[in-house]
Amino acid sequence: MFKGILIEKDEDGYRAALKEIDESVLHEGDVTIRVAYSTLNYKDGLAITGKSPVVRSFPMIPGIDLVGKVEQSDSADYRPGDTVVLTGWGVGEVHPGGLAERARLKSDWLVPLPKAFSPKQAMAIGTAGFTAMLCVMALERHGVKSDQGDVLVTGAGGGVGSVAISILSNLGYRVVGVSGRPEEVDYIKSLGAAEVLDRGEFDKPGKPLAKERWAGAIDVVGSHTLANVCASMRYRGVVAACGLVGGMDFPATVAPFILRGVTLAGVDSVMCPKTERLEAWERLARDLDVSKLEQIHQEIGLSEAIEVAGKLLAGEVRGRMLVDISR
Ligand code: NDP
Repeated sequence: MFKGILIEKDEDGYRAALKEIDESVLHEGDVTIRVAYSTLNYKDGLAITGKSPVVRSFPMIPGIDLVGKVEQSDSADYRPGDTVVLTGWGVGEVHPGGLAERARLKSDWLVPLPKAFSPKQAMAIGTAGFTAMLCVMALERHGVKSDQGDVLVTGAGGGVGSVAISILSNLGYRVVGVSGRPEEVDYIKSLGAAEVLDRGEFDKPGKPLAKERWAGAIDVVGSHTLANVCASMRYRGVVAACGLVGGMDFPATVAPFILRGVTLAGVDSVMCPKTERLEAWERLARDLDVSKLEQIHQEIGLSEAIEVAGKLLAGEVRGRMLVDISR
């Protein structure tokens, strides 16, 4: 038995509770891990509260990322005592995840803890920070350079937004954040944003084409915000879209794409191939100022995770929420 959060769904309804979990709940895998830290991402909030059908197999341990020490391994790649990092691959959705003392995973899904980071720092980055790096890499891949103009980052006070702003400003981009929380403007500027715009400028229906403003953009919001961001891109600008906190719809026209040559680059971290994962972690080690992680993350114990999941969905959490599994 081990301690963890278990999500169950049966005739009594959908519920998440901290409890002693039987080993039989774990699925097949060739590596067993003693989890040190997991985190709360937006998707974990949806899974724990049941607000969206993120969990597709029950009972389920939530937690889409984790760092921990290998306890037992049938893989030639990992030995007991190695520290490993996991993000994505459906863990916490269809395969039991990180919000528990023990995880059993496939070795192919793991990456060794990057040398530049402590286990805690790796999870302060976690899925959201890893995704922020993938978004920056997508902008670069499509040719966005720091001397071409401003880069917009929506959901600036959240996990993906905070890390994206830190990386972009470190790389010399002039970054403009978008936030719905005036009380977080100083925090967002402290990460490197030159300006912070109000969310209200973006979240209502807008024109097919607006004034050309952004050379690049990272959007976590979707819906009208993504449509308005696309409409206000400069000629040949690039938008990396990874999120849906404002809605899954995309009420846009083709005008920005066919008249201004705008590129909309989709970013998915879950099934991201291993070579790109390793590249993203290398880039994080090089391009993220680790001192910013202190500002970006807050820490809670596993026993607080269920309560904080609701606050995260309500948009009340700043940056990244690290979960210490030992308390
Ligand atoms: P967080 O909850 O940490 O941050 C989201 C931020 O978005 C909030 O802090 C808030 O920032 C802003 N926000 C919240 N609600 C709304 C709203 N209704 N309209 C506009 N803005 C809003 O989430 P994450 O950063 O972890 O994730 C962000 C999104 O990216 C989620 O949709 C998540 O599912 C997605 N994601 C996708 C991944 C992928 O692989 N494609 C991987 C990781 C995340 P502020 O108050 O500053 O405006």
